[in-house]
Amino acid sequence: MTIATKIQSCIEQSSWIRKMFEQGAQLREQFGAENIFDFTIGNPSVEPPQAFHDELKKIAADPQPGMHRYMSNAGYDETRNAVAEFLSERSGSQVAGSQVVMTCGAGGALNVVLKTLLNPGEKVIILAPFFVEYKFYIDNHGGVATVVETNPETFQLDIGTIEQAITANTKAIIVNSPNNPTGVIYPAEDLTALGLLLKRKQDEFNSTIYVISDEPYARLAYDNVEVPCIFNCIQNSVIVTSHSKDLALPGERIGYLAANPTMADVDLFMEGAIFCNRVLGFVNAPALIQRLVSKLQHVSVDISAYEEKRDLFYRELTALGFEVVKPQGGFYLFPKSPLADDVKFIELAQKYNILLVPGKGFGTPGYFRIAYCIDKAIIERSLPAWKKLAAEVGLG
Ligand code: PLP
Repeated sequence: MTIATKIQSCIEQSSWIRKMFEQGAQLREQFGAENIFDFTIGNPSVEPPQAFHDELKKIAADPQPGMHRYMSNAGYDETRNAVAEFLSERSGSQVAGSQVVMTCGAGGALNVVLKTLLNPGEKVIILAPFFVEYKFYIDNHGGVATVVETNPETFQLDIGTIEQAITANTKAIIVNSPNNPTGVIYPAEDLTALGLLLKRKQDEFNSTIYVISDEPYARLAYDNVEVPCIFNCIQNSVIVTSHSKDLALPGERIGYLAANPTMADVDLFMEGAIFCNRVLGFVNAPALIQRLVSKLQHVSVDISAYEEKRDLFYRELTALGFEVVKPQGGFYLFPKSPLADDVKFIELAQKYNILLVPGKGFGTPGYFRIAYCIDKAIIERSLPAWKKLAAEVGLG
């Protein structure tokens, strides 16, 4: 075997993703795409806002010399300043363009921040259920993930459990709100409590513990629930985010990281992050899309379509007897599996052409994830299948 043993093992660990993908393709061929209810992938169902197309046309119609050349590794000043202005408004504090690095999505930003911070063997706390890639990203940079459970009833932060997990070797904690896969939003009081805990632990261990706030769903929040700005709750915090969901541009790979202006050694952190963006081979975020998003900081997709789907799905599933925490944001539901073995349950769901992801993949067995960022008509068409599935597992 020629590839690295470690990568082989990573492929095996995430093989259920591939398995789901292959099974989906097979089912589509067998039954026709319109009869397959695929809830596996978090790919936005909505198109980017009209303002995106308008700006794109403007840029294409008026090409400027040098607009496709290399630039500063941190990105265009114009874009960094536009992001900083948006974050200053959101946080109520002064964020400078120099505290922003444009990145290849939130995934790119997470890798840049982890590479910037981690010494070999340092620990990063992740909260279960968690975004599948966190463990791989941490491992990319020589760190070790410490998995901490959230509250099993609410999926909210459990400060006591986090406290027990922090050691002198803890370098960072990743928080993701609105959360993938649960859709919960952490309130400001809990984030502030986390900040106080970290301050205490930093004093105890004479260390610095960073909060990496992964927020690609920050503008997908429903019922007027506020997504608090981490900068107001935790001193040593970094926002990593993207326009993959709020402008429906995941294929364009545009995001950013922004450091809290009050972070200890913020200038050194930024220098490190700019260097890491370069040496990870990203070099800089895509030029054309940087120019575009600098004009679109106050624009986002119409979230009412997602909210409607959440309401529909939540109402129908709970009526069938599924137990699920009502999501406040994002576009996922994370119900309890009616069978103790979540993998068995999703295999059973396939009998009804429903494709789901097992909770096991998010570090929380006994649950399953539904991505509802698909056409409402597909959700509606799937309801009879859900009814049969619920009956087969004895719900209702
Ligand atoms: N973080 C979370 C929680 C996500 O759900 C995703 C994508 O689904 C990402 C990060 C990465 O997003 P991107 O790299 O497209 O910005």
